[in-house]
Amino acid sequence: MITGNTRILGVMGYPVAHSFSPVMYNAAFAHSGLDWVYLAFSVPPGNLPEALAGLRALGMTGANLTIPHKEAALKHLDYLTPEADLIGAVNVLRIENDLLIGHNTDGTGFLQSLSREANFIPQQKKVLILGAGGAARAVALTLARRGALEIVIANRTQQRGVELALEVQKKTGVKAEGISLEPEALAAAVQTADLVVQASSVGMYPQSEAPDWFKPEWLSPSTLVCDLIYRPRPTRFLQLADQRGCLTLDGLGMLLYQGVQSFTWWTGLTAPVEIMRQALERWVPD
Ligand code: NAP
Repeated sequence: MITGNTRILGVMGYPVAHSFSPVMYNAAFAHSGLDWVYLAFSVPPGNLPEALAGLRALGMTGANLTIPHKEAALKHLDYLTPEADLIGAVNVLRIENDLLIGHNTDGTGFLQSLSREANFIPQQKKVLILGAGGAARAVALTLARRGALEIVIANRTQQRGVELALEVQKKTGVKAEGISLEPEALAAAVQTADLVVQASSVGMYPQSEAPDWFKPEWLSPSTLVCDLIYRPRPTRFLQLADQRGCLTLDGLGMLLYQGVQSFTWWTGLTAPVEIMRQALERWVPD
């Protein structure tokens, strides 16, 4: 029931109507007996400063940010947590004593999905990331900070991958390299990786094809293969990796655990993980 005490949170993005965050958080708030409600706010890029000021003016508790606001919001915030500072992007905000605090749970959400769902810890592991966009950046910097041995970033625009690799190396001291999608270099990187993370947008709904520049036969069955895409589930890329005998992980876990961590950061409570997972599984179409 909505009362005079109801706290309001929400996700700001553009577009945002497709977001699964409202179903996930509203299920969690209801299950936890919180008089909190979570909405989706369509905020065009030019309106972000006013929308952030509005959060503060309305005394809202917090918010999530999604494309295209995760990096643009940085300059409007009062304080960044070490995770947000490391990644250079914010996916969750909290208003505390009238200050806007930015945090990032995308990378640590992925990390928690890896450990909970695949029993994988990054220490001393060789990681290959396909893609160099926002999601790849959160994953690369977080895995490096948590002790990965080496990070290779393979990207269509090689220079973007090279720049991200330089940043990883500079911020964390972990060896990192940016390569192209050219078969010889990519095959060599796949063959030595303990973990391959598909972080490009290839294969995301409404597409259904695997990246044509990636050959599943390069994979060894001992490699853990993740795709950050959560629609379709599984992606064609993960189906091919599964046929090679690899353990596979889709992007629903990253979506879930970034939400689990945001819930706890806002409420101070343990998140009802299974309730949140069920809400996502019910709403994310196959
Ligand atoms: P982004 O910033 O737009 O980056 C897109 C990446 O995909 C870039 O590296 C781009 O390469 C590459 N790419 C696009 N089309 C390509 C093609 N035809 N061939 C090769 N590479 C191509 O997007 P993002 O925010 O990082 O998201 C990437 C994916 O992760 C999306 O599918 C998204 O759904 C998923 N994601 C999942 C979660 C989760 O919680 N599970 C969270 C965030 C994102 P260039 O640099 O050459 O353009």
